[in-house]
Amino acid sequence: TTKTKNILLTGTAGFIGSNFVPYFLNKYPEYNLINLDLLTYAGTLDNLKECENNPRYKFIKGDICNRELVEFIFTEYDINGVIHFAAESHVDNSIKNPGVFVQTNVTGTFTLIDVAYKYWMTGPNQYHSKFKTQNSTLPRFHHISTDEVYGTLSLDPTDLFTETTPYAPNSPYSASKASSDMIIRAYNETYGMNTVITNCSNNYGPKQHDEKLIPTIIRNALKGNPIPIYGDGKNIRDWLYVLDHCKGIDVVYHTGKTGETYNIGGRNERTNLQIVNTICEILDKKYPIKNNSKFKTQNSTLSSYKSLITFVEDRAGHDRRYAIDATKLENELGWKADENFDSGILLTIEWYLEKYN
Ligand code: NAD
Repeated sequence: TTKTKNILLTGTAGFIGSNFVPYFLNKYPEYNLINLDLLTYAGTLDNLKECENNPRYKFIKGDICNRELVEFIFTEYDINGVIHFAAESHVDNSIKNPGVFVQTNVTGTFTLIDVAYKYWMTGPNQYHSKFKTQNSTLPRFHHISTDEVYGTLSLDPTDLFTETTPYAPNSPYSASKASSDMIIRAYNETYGMNTVITNCSNNYGPKQHDEKLIPTIIRNALKGNPIPIYGDGKNIRDWLYVLDHCKGIDVVYHTGKTGETYNIGGRNERTNLQIVNTICEILDKKYPIKNNSKFKTQNSTLSSYKSLITFVEDRAGHDRRYAIDATKLENELGWKADENFDSGILLTIEWYLEKYN
């Protein structure tokens, strides 16, 4: 049917993409989803098990920097939409090994959009003229990005990242994401491609890699290990439940204005100390230390997981505060987060209790 869409999704074996795919497959029965992921240390097909038998789901293992492969996929599946999640995503790794961040996040994004441009706008497919004469829209390229491109904020609560905040990335990770955003922008401005960018705040929820803050807290607490917190624990992040991010991407992909950027955030600012304290309090109720057989100090007098909190040397260049103003997305496209932090963190803890226990 004319409604059938073949959408290329990248990086979907990772945290956000693997939450997005089952949501999107269920919601849009007319879409075929072609998933390209290199399965780096950050991606695993376990995250996509629930989709494996769906005939509208196809997985391809490969690198977004591999131009021949990306060209093959566009032709083979007649791709007419892209949602691009794939990235190196961990700030600490970017400090140790920035090169792969530039390669995947910058060169990879360039490769994808340049192949899309050639295929949709200049290739034998004549998408450009076809869509023009049908008074339709061009296929859309949606680039997933982060609020970290805006740098760091003061502690003044009225100071928020908006879509017009100047870019000021501070880590190799955020610099590589900022660069990729600029490439997307240029393909809209220069070649008239139908692009949208979303810049989202910190996500939490099921399927996040062990290395990230919230899984690290839960895993160490359950094992009775020290729970490492950077610096003084007062760095502030704006936390959004991963499914709310997925719903925001859905809304922007379908109704966002071409060439625009939308910030996605849940108005949920928390210091890292608040996060760790909340998680420990919930664990104390749901899974008290005295019932935890893996707990090394079970004969000790510890009554709360909070006793495990240990401050460690701060991350270099650690941004103090991020906070998103999502007014544009809320007012123009009608998106709103469904979970608040209390409900989202409960769902998250329940999922990790299953995983780590
Ligand atoms: P993730 O690290 O969990 O997953 C990344 C996925 O990309 C993995 O499956 C990995 O195998 C794949 N990948 C890496 N290099 C690749 C390559 N060269 N070719 C193909 N696939 C490759 O990341 P995530 O947390 O799910 O983030 C997804 C996107 O969302 C990223 O672009 C990230 O910048 C952005 N983002 C993340 C957050 C967050 O809080 N996690 C917030 C805002 C934006």
